[in-house]
Amino acid sequence: MSTVAAISTGQAAGGIGIVRISGEDALSVADRIFKSVSGKKLKDLKGYTAAYGKVYADGNEIDEAVALVFKAPKSYTGEDVVEISCHGGLLVTKQTLRAALSAGAAAAEPGEFTKRAFLNGKMDLTSAEAVMSIIGAKSENAKSAALNALDGALYRKINAVSSSLKKTAAQMAAWVDYPDDEIEDLSDENLSGVLLGCKKELGELISRFDIGQAVIEGVDTVIIGRPNVGKSALMNMLTGCEKSIVTSVAGTTRDIVEETVSLGGAVLRLADTAGLHETGDAVEKIGVDRTKKKAERAALILAVFDYSEKLTQEDEAIIEICKGKNAVAVINKTDLKRKIETEKITSRFNGTVFISAKEQAGLTELEKELERALGTAEFDTSAASLMNERQYSCCKLAEESVNEALEALRSGVTRDAVNVSIDCAIEKLDVLTGERATESVVNEIFSRFCVGK
Ligand code: GDP
Repeated sequence: MSTVAAISTGQAAGGIGIVRISGEDALSVADRIFKSVSGKKLKDLKGYTAAYGKVYADGNEIDEAVALVFKAPKSYTGEDVVEISCHGGLLVTKQTLRAALSAGAAAAEPGEFTKRAFLNGKMDLTSAEAVMSIIGAKSENAKSAALNALDGALYRKINAVSSSLKKTAAQMAAWVDYPDDEIEDLSDENLSGVLLGCKKELGELISRFDIGQAVIEGVDTVIIGRPNVGKSALMNMLTGCEKSIVTSVAGTTRDIVEETVSLGGAVLRLADTAGLHETGDAVEKIGVDRTKKKAERAALILAVFDYSEKLTQEDEAIIEICKGKNAVAVINKTDLKRKIETEKITSRFNGTVFISAKEQAGLTELEKELERALGTAEFDTSAASLMNERQYSCCKLAEESVNEALEALRSGVTRDAVNVSIDCAIEKLDVLTGERATESVVNEIFSRFCVGK
């Protein structure tokens, strides 16, 4: 494989900037641009050692730097790797990268280092995807789940299922191929036992997927309520408090299209927050229909009411919209005297929280209620979890094939038909772990990574 280089640290000024070079010629490329003060060549250093020196381009000094040497296969990519840590000004790191490219390295594609790690057998596909999830993690729980996947929790689970299917398929094949040998045939009971065991394991992963996604990716959430109840105030309380981590995603047509708020184990994706600030009066200005539409698209609704006023018709309309949905009632302005008919709310929502956005009171209760509404409180981040749609669909297809095998066994058709379905399930699981993923699938996965990872 060719030798590639990229800036591996963020594209912003920082204390240090790292240019990573990986491939067969990594050491000689680095030796062309880096001169250690000791005079030693990097290619003569042992793996896991560092050298202090200077980086040069066309004979001109760019910066002082430290070069870290990793020797194949003991590196992130499994190849020879040199990481040059220079000062973190963007200019310096860019010049160092340019020097490496002129010295013979090619520019690394997005995710190329991790892709190489996968292709060189340093990690399976689920671990590689976990690397991306760690980088994108928006909450403590999301990070724990991703670290766990990086550690191979999902891989081990999938591998255990596929190994038991492979063992069964091999035993069945041996019995067919060597009828004269005294190979014991699998009884229908044994075969069905193995298949039911696999079905259970896959079923568990599949049933945890939605809740896992809520933890990892967050849930689409809308804040609704009649004018002046404190929707914007609630939003500010959520995004402004130290407890919550806020990530804003820049959009093309608006300043902000989505804000992610992490509060405890809950991650809320608050879309259309620009709309919230703009109109300020949901029901009156944008109309019940639009509020309804917004609520329909959301996986979680925060319906805001005013503690200091009696319920109005508009409030009733909001309550009606929330019927049958995953909605939490947020009664705001508890610092004022109560006029609201509390029981009319509590009886119609699964969860009600009292807050005062003005006094920043009630956040802990809100946090608990959100975790309950989303089910994230019980989510075990140490258990194996499917991390994305790709893994989910592989798992689902494998489960379908196992069901087909069970069905074939029950209906008494030949073992051949059972075997075909088992093979199909094995193939889907192998695609999940990357043992059998096609080049285009692999390329697609890594293209979503950032450059330098
Ligand atoms: P929205 O129209 O629903 O977005 O409501 P706003 O967030 O703009 O708030 C409407 C008014 O209520 C503003 O004057 C806020 O200062 C006030 N307000 C919001 N939250 C509270 C609260 O907890 N207590 C009190 N006393 N006033 C509040």
